[in-house]
Amino acid sequence: RLADWISFPLMDPARIDARLDAVGEIKGERDRLYALRGLFKPIPDMERIIGRISANRASPRDICALCSGLEQAPALRDLLKGAGSTLVCDIYDNLDPLDDISGCIRRTIVPDPPVRVSDGNVIRDHVDNELDELRSIKRDSREWIAAMEARQRELTGINTLKIGYNRVFGYYIEVSKVNAAKVPQTYIQKQSLANAERFITPELKEYEARILGAQDVILKIEQRIFNELRGFIVEGFERLHRMIEALSRLDVICCLCIVAMDNAYSRPEVSTDRGLEIKNGRHPVVEKVLGPGLFVSNHLGFDADRDTIHMITGPNMAGKSTYMRQVALICIMAQMGSFVPADKARIGVVDRIFTRIGALDNLSAGQSTFLVEMSETACILNNATAQSLVILDEIGRGTSTHDGMSLAWAVAEYLDKRHVRTFFATHYHELSDLARRHQGIKNFHMSVEDSGTDIVFLRVLKRGATGKSYGIHVAKLAGIPEDVVHNAGSILSRISKKAGSVPKAFSSGPIQTGLFDQRGYDFGYDDIINEIKEIDIENMRPIDALNRLSAIKDRINGDQGH
Ligand code: ATP
Repeated sequence: RLADWISFPLMDPARIDARLDAVGEIKGERDRLYALRGLFKPIPDMERIIGRISANRASPRDICALCSGLEQAPALRDLLKGAGSTLVCDIYDNLDPLDDISGCIRRTIVPDPPVRVSDGNVIRDHVDNELDELRSIKRDSREWIAAMEARQRELTGINTLKIGYNRVFGYYIEVSKVNAAKVPQTYIQKQSLANAERFITPELKEYEARILGAQDVILKIEQRIFNELRGFIVEGFERLHRMIEALSRLDVICCLCIVAMDNAYSRPEVSTDRGLEIKNGRHPVVEKVLGPGLFVSNHLGFDADRDTIHMITGPNMAGKSTYMRQVALICIMAQMGSFVPADKARIGVVDRIFTRIGALDNLSAGQSTFLVEMSETACILNNATAQSLVILDEIGRGTSTHDGMSLAWAVAEYLDKRHVRTFFATHYHELSDLARRHQGIKNFHMSVEDSGTDIVFLRVLKRGATGKSYGIHVAKLAGIPEDVVHNAGSILSRISKKAGSVPKAFSSGPIQTGLFDQRGYDFGYDDIINEIKEIDIENMRPIDALNRLSAIKDRINGDQGH
């Protein structure tokens, strides 16, 4: 049921509120909550048992476990008496103890039965007369064998003679080798062991046939009674399903109460608009893993009418992914009817959550890493609505910088145009320019403290963009060799000096591919362009023009050599 609630969150605020009311009501009375939890302990997975019963694969132990579950219903109902919330009242009404079924099981099956019906001794005494009679024959057989053993000892004068049984030979008379000569002519030799001889007699064989026949009939009767019991339970399936459904809902509600109490979750408000407001939101899993007091909470204010994209920049390792996922998890938790890890939350219900996270490939299906990334993005763009929630954790990383950035830019504009609620984490700092062009796009960043030699991740989300990723610093943290880190640092400072901050193609107006735009951005050819512009071709000798051209070519080739 819990998996079901998580996988299929609700969209109707009234139904969500009904679940939240139930959680709120039961959570409000701790003693009752713990008493309910205690009563759940002996209850097995009843739905699975019902499945086995209908597939005719249930064991006697399954049936007894089902009965134990049913027998908890009256005590559970007592604790729910006088409930206020609609859902708890509904659970109370449907917690039918099904006394007829549990009573029948208790009257028919022995407590703590064997695993299989074919093991025997599953059905109680006094359930069936024929079964009782055959069992008494079997019980008497022990006495009969004991009497025969005494008679044969007296007859042969062998005090150690004994009558035994095994599955291969059935009943036999066993005599030690030293006494073998004393046995009468009527004994028929059956088996010779190291120290003993085994015999049978016509009288013993005749008795064996009677007893084994009784055993076969006993097992057949037990199987028949077990099948009848199963049939009786199947007839009550509809009522059982209703009861189990109520039981599982109560179980999940109790469970949600416990996590809400243990982790200081609060009741979310749910509405149908597009707004999202979270005060001191936390990631429910990361905060548990980090331990008490270590997780840094963050706020979110997503305006229902105006906001479209929250563009989140900030260093690697700063907490962008964690923050975006916590928003999505809080939405799912709220819509499944759970309290949420935040001081306060107002959730405008989402119809679907789309995510594009990490890098995957599907080589056997002919899909490269970038193709998978683009297929996921295509799915989002083709399906997301204004009521959806989209988490884009980087787009366009698997291709060239300019292809990737152009795609990311265009994807953001597309989502903005369709008012899709989007959280977009990126290291393309150029994308923060979008906020100047589109009202709905807002910039945020994860703050860090940069001392010049070291950085401290503060994990606090702030308004505005940031221009640094500190990727080389994180590479060092990850254990990249010092030489590589050092070299990367010098390459970065060289590139940074040459590159403009925003490629012209993105800075204004419609995109126009210029002859030198792209290379100028990569290698800083602005000075060469300026030089060419200033050349006075009219007053130049051809040889000077050729020399000049050759000098420019050398410079370009020299740069490419880097
Ligand atoms: P990258 O850009 O490299 O993917 P990121 O900004 O997405 O990094 P996360 O992956 O979200 O960073 O976070 C990195 C680690 O920081 C997490 O594994 C988690 O342990 C820790 N962390 C993230 N957010 C918080 C927080 N709010 N409080 C405490 N620790 C956090």
